[in-house]
Amino acid sequence: MTNQENPFLALAAPGIAGLTPYVPGKPVSELERELGISGTIKLASNENPLGPGHRAREAIAAALPELGLYPDGAAFELRRAIADHHRVSPMAVTIGNGSNDVLDMVARVFLQPGTESLFSAHAFAVYPIATQAVGATARIAPARDYGHDLAAMAALVNEHTRVVWIANPNNPTGTWLAADPLRTFIEGLPKTCVVVIDEAYTEYVSEPDFPDATQWLDAHPHLIVTRTFSKAHGLAALRVGYALSDPRLADLLNRVRHPFNVNSLAQAAAAAAIGDCEHVRASVELNRAGMRQLTAGFERLGLGYIPSVGNFVTVDLGRTAAPINEALLRRGIIVRPIANYGLPNHLRISIGLEADNARLLAALEDIVKVL
Ligand SMILES: *Cc1c(COP(=O)(O)O)cnc(C)c1O
Repeated sequence: MTNQENPFLALAAPGIAGLTPYVPGKPVSELERELGISGTIKLASNENPLGPGHRAREAIAAALPELGLYPDGAAFELRRAIADHHRVSPMAVTIGNGSNDVLDMVARVFLQPGTESLFSAHAFAVYPIATQAVGATARIAPARDYGHDLAAMAALVNEHTRVVWIANPNNPTGTWLAADPLRTFIEGLPKTCVVVIDEAYTEYVSEPDFPDATQWLDAHPHLIVTRTFSKAHGLAALRVGYALSDPRLADLLNRVRHPFNVNSLAQAAAAAAIGDCEHVRASVELNRAGMRQLTAGFERLGLGYIPSVGNFVTVDLGRTAAPINEALLRRGIIVRPIANYGLPNHLRISIGLEADNARLLAALEDIVKVL
């Protein structure tokens, strides 16, 4: 529906007119209904193709008898498990219904009309949505080689800046920032803003100079680090993520957190998953092999791609990607068009199981030959 057609818009808060809903990867069931096909694969939402590990599955089964009760609103056990894992106080932990929820809390606490948030071109789509939903202004720094240009970002910081968002590695580009430049950037920010380092894909990264920003929390009280159980832990359906920060920032985030924002199955599963290093290791190894398989395939097909350290890779088709995406959908393969991220010639492909990666490559080979 367009703004002209919607009479209620006149009643809505300032930022709402400029918003468009987040576009998720198409669900398998929806595509199969539309096309009357089956056997669809989805390589569109950076999910873990292994799903959750057995420890999380067992914790979910054990929590089922309690479904009639409200969850623990303070998520005591989960916060303690996260705090132990990171060796911080439970007071430093804010639980979210997915880490998106935490990003939204940050926006609601620190942003309002007249203030600004800052992020890079091709950054995660939730940053502009969270900013605009509360009527604040988004400043978007140009990217360099598809990644964050920290100098360009620093140049846009001013007295109105309240939140700086950086995903490391970034989605949808898979680019990453090394420890030294990122830390220097954070140190150079004024005390009138907070900086969110979104580490949704951190488990997948093995570069030696890739930072763990949680290590900087003591030295940098304006820092908020977010993590999720949706990616390497394979719990995307349950919606659970968290922030680590100075407890005084966590106090503010918790003031706007919805009561019972994380359900009891999610709390139990996440508390079990955070210590399941074996499952994370298996997921990371599968990802590494799949990444090699896909990038070797792209090279064979003469397709460019953005080198990625995440569980996805963005392929450059050198022309409008939409018709190629349509052709993939007709073959029952869902990937992610990213024109809304300013990348109309690219498709983001999540790393899947070996057979699914092979099917994607074979389909792509057929399609680019004739299109
Ligand atoms: C997937 C993703 C998240 C995690 O979202 P959840 O709400 O925790 O499922 C956060 N940030 C980025 C950059 C992501 O790609």
